[in-house]
Amino acid sequence: MEDTIFDKIVRREIPAEIVYEDDATLAFLDIAPNNPGHTLVIPKKQSRNIFDITEADWLAVMKTVRKLAPVIRDAVGADGVNINSNHEAGAGQEVFHTHVHIVPRHTGDGFTLWHGTSYQEGEAKVLGEKIRAAL
Ligand code: 5GP
Repeated sequence: MEDTIFDKIVRREIPAEIVYEDDATLAFLDIAPNNPGHTLVIPKKQSRNIFDITEADWLAVMKTVRKLAPVIRDAVGADGVNINSNHEAGAGQEVFHTHVHIVPRHTGDGFTLWHGTSYQEGEAKVLGEKIRAAL
């Protein structure tokens, strides 16, 4: 697997504002924050995204996200956070080393999230059956 900028951050080859580290994960401030305090949590071990990461690494990332979210919220006086993660280019992934964004949010900060649309009659049932059958 090819090295990414995040592997270089893990190896301290390029600088980053690291806020937390344990055996399996690293967390650092995003270089282009949506809001101040925007943090990225990554597994230290290489994986591209949710489609190849081990369960243990993903759970370790989630554990760190849960630990950091309230600390980051309080550090910047936010009203909440968005926990976001992009997997593959079609979903907006730009750095191909698994990562989860913690984005502090303030009431009225103007960010808008996606709008939902409705299923056609029967569509959700067919899709639900397809997903259940593939598990
Ligand atoms: P993605 O679109 O892949 O989910 O998000 C990649 C994120 O990595 C972006 O929010 C971008 O600002 C951040 N990023 C890209 N390069 C660097 C870097 O060299 N250092 C840091 N701290 N963040 C980076």
